[in-house]
Amino acid sequence: MASAAPRRTKFILDEERIPRSWYNIAADLALAGIQMSPPLHPGTMQPIGPADLAPLFPMSLILQEVSTDRDIEIPDPVRDAYQLYRPSPLYRAHRLERVLDTPAHIYYKYEGVSPAGSHKPNTALAQAFFNKQEGVKRLATETGAGQWGSALAFAGAVFGLEVKVYMVRASYDQKPYRRMLMETYGASVVASPSMTTNYGRRVLAETPDSNGSLGIAISEAVEDAATRDDTKYALGSVLNHVMLHQTVIGLEAQQQMAMAGERPDVIIACAGGGSNFAGLTFPFVGENLRGEASYRVIAAEPEAAPSLTRGVYAYDFGDTGKMAPIVKMHTLGSDFMPEPIHAGGLRYHGMSPLVSLLKEHDLIEARSVHQVACFDAGVQFARAEGILPAPESTHAIKVAVDEALEAKERGEAKVILFNLSGHGHFDLVSYERYLQGALEDYEYPAERVAESLASLPKVPA
Ligand SMILES: *Cc1c(COP(=O)(O)O)cnc(C)c1O
Repeated sequence: MASAAPRRTKFILDEERIPRSWYNIAADLALAGIQMSPPLHPGTMQPIGPADLAPLFPMSLILQEVSTDRDIEIPDPVRDAYQLYRPSPLYRAHRLERVLDTPAHIYYKYEGVSPAGSHKPNTALAQAFFNKQEGVKRLATETGAGQWGSALAFAGAVFGLEVKVYMVRASYDQKPYRRMLMETYGASVVASPSMTTNYGRRVLAETPDSNGSLGIAISEAVEDAATRDDTKYALGSVLNHVMLHQTVIGLEAQQQMAMAGERPDVIIACAGGGSNFAGLTFPFVGENLRGEASYRVIAAEPEAAPSLTRGVYAYDFGDTGKMAPIVKMHTLGSDFMPEPIHAGGLRYHGMSPLVSLLKEHDLIEARSVHQVACFDAGVQFARAEGILPAPESTHAIKVAVDEALEAKERGEAKVILFNLSGHGHFDLVSYERYLQGALEDYEYPAERVAESLASLPKVPA
């Protein structure tokens, strides 16, 4: 029988404690003397200014992209929309601790309570609002497995914007439920490559049965936005303003850890493009940068697409069509197509420039993990805590479990905090394959990465 002792498992903030500003880590990086590298134009390879980005993004987001102000106010309509699901809960994983028989205290911040089931609405709502405010009528975007597409479709419904989603062909065919959710929110969804754009038509002419890829879908959405006056482009990760919007997660978690009366020793999140990682950890990394704390911070990524642990830090294209701005980041090369692991949100060749910069300066750690071990940890977590994690989130769980087991070995009372970035209710086919023993691990494809890295853009020094 479970002990009857009244232990606190859930830390809930009142709505007034939704942060009033996002935290911009660029401010503390500047104070620490750490330089960010500017994005470059994909044609000229020269640094781009706000005007170059104007066809794609509204000016308010472009200014956030380059801002070095520490606190950036969250507009009231965005805070009001956040109230649909924020503040999100922080849990102490007592039951998982018991199963692991660890002296470690494990906490997790749960972003699966959002309408779309992940952290992604935190930026989707902000992006939709700022676009609407500047008179934009329509947003174009890409989606892989559908999580970002459903977040933006929801945000479009909230702020009254049309949303067009280019969904990677393989997911469009295999994962119809996310598409149905997007359409229910009112978005229009097309399989990518599509006949809607020049780039899509070109890919289809060469490869009529193309399965598509995130890189191709980004190129299509960028072309759509760049060629229509009423339309802008929205990206769900990687960019500085996306990292910024996600910091509501960490700012709430700081308050909730204080409620719990503990400080984390180690903070963990999975990293695909880096946004849920940045969201939870940047406010804490800010404390480190200001010399107020010394948290260990770990990014968990898949062994099949390990940009932070195995990629190079270089300027690279973000998309296959080479239309989007070039950014300096950890990359496996823009031609690299990761194996079809079940954590679709982690299948990206690059990484957020801000997260990459922190890694380059040893301000964070990174660890790559295999998918079967992640599902092992995810199922263990589900059976202990009840929540079915998204396959992406299981990467963070795996690293948190490893840290807890290490604490047990050393008899250490360690406090662990991780981000449970979303639920896995749309990913049950992946769980079925796991339960059937049909999941496989993919070794790091060193040769294919080397090939892909050979075509990094030649950027003038
Ligand atoms: C999209 C997604 C991720 C990966 O994206 P990041 O930008 O790295 O956070 C992780 N978890 C979930 C649940 C997602 O939907």
